[in-house]
Amino acid sequence: MRISVPAETRPGETRVAATPETVKKLAAKHQIIVQSGAGLPASVTDDAYVAAGAQIVPASEVWAADVILKVRAPNAEERAQIKPGTVVIGMLNPFDADNNAAMASAGLLALALEAVPRITRAQSMDVLSSQANIAGYKAVMVAANTYQRFMPMLMTAAGTVKAARVLIMGVGVAGLQAIATAKRLGAVIEASDVRPPVKEQVESLGAKFIDVPYLTDEEKDIAQGVGGYARPMPVDWMRRQSELVHERAKLADIIITTALIPGRPAPVLISEETVKAMKPGSVIVDLAVSQGGNCPLSELNKTVIRHGVHIIGEPDLATHVAADASALYARNVLDFLKLIIDKEDKLVIDREDEIIKATLLCAGGELLRK
Ligand code: NAD
Repeated sequence: MRISVPAETRPGETRVAATPETVKKLAAKHQIIVQSGAGLPASVTDDAYVAAGAQIVPASEVWAADVILKVRAPNAEERAQIKPGTVVIGMLNPFDADNNAAMASAGLLALALEAVPRITRAQSMDVLSSQANIAGYKAVMVAANTYQRFMPMLMTAAGTVKAARVLIMGVGVAGLQAIATAKRLGAVIEASDVRPPVKEQVESLGAKFIDVPYLTDEEKDIAQGVGGYARPMPVDWMRRQSELVHERAKLADIIITTALIPGRPAPVLISEETVKAMKPGSVIVDLAVSQGGNCPLSELNKTVIRHGVHIIGEPDLATHVAADASALYARNVLDFLKLIIDKEDKLVIDREDEIIKATLLCAGGELLRK
């Protein structure tokens, strides 16, 4: 089988869908072609791919393949170069109905890795987790870089410096890693989430959980989420959360927001009123900015200062850790490939398989996810 790895062209995308480690595993049985320079933004040279068994090709030859491994969905120009029937695997943005329809009309067999279900068998293919983990770490790094004070408490001959107070809103994969990273730097941490099991996880990392009690069975039920993901909480619960968060935000030096609800705008968790009440020089990193943001003042791809607060709106912080983000992503892709390559090294798309069913956007011209 011919498996190809194009260079990513979306602005700001630094990752690559295969690394020499994963190429080496595939090259024993398949022809692997890599576009010249595809790995460079992630610090992987063409020579490293060649040493792993790949063949380097120019951009004009990379689209002729049985399987194309991507980070982001191919754009219109790239799509036009892919022959019908080709399997395309990547973070193809399953909620983008226009893109799904375009890939269907191009006759592609498109598999969106963000849609991998949260079941034990699929854990090693879970790109949202592997990348959110990195984003959570990097969010603390960029916050610390902007914040004009120390993170840990310091006792010096010139006096004592207080530890930074960090507030984490949304404690999924990114939020947990943000807590762990801020803890390593010596910050004092509080966190909020809607889902009940999060309290114990937050406390086990040495942070304080901001408890917003559930007053009705409906609230308790919605807070359980679906398939590991949150659902929009009732207005009354959100109001009580917002009042508590407002008080905690006044004391915070850094707020990292990560709260997402799949396929919907991100919930507003840090209102303009709350930003106004924060200390000057404090920092907000809004990881949900591409879904509209958890703070209405955050701006996509920008750092702005509003009411004296630095608000960082970087949507894809994992791209700032390109080498490790690619290494983990490529392993997710390799594990996913094992699902669609049989013992005789042939391509088999088993539409009855739960993971394939969830990720398949289109095949043979048929649009399966609208
Ligand atoms: P996510 O990126 O979808 O959302 C981030 C967090 O925001 C979630 O914890 C969510 O509950 C929270 N959130 C949503 N609305 C909120 C609000 N109004 N206020 C506060 N917080 C809010 O979540 P995620 O990181 O993808 O992970 C969600 C869960 O799934 C985690 O517990 C994770 O450990 C679990 N998970 C399970 C598997 C598996 O079983 N295979 C794999 C990956 C993740």
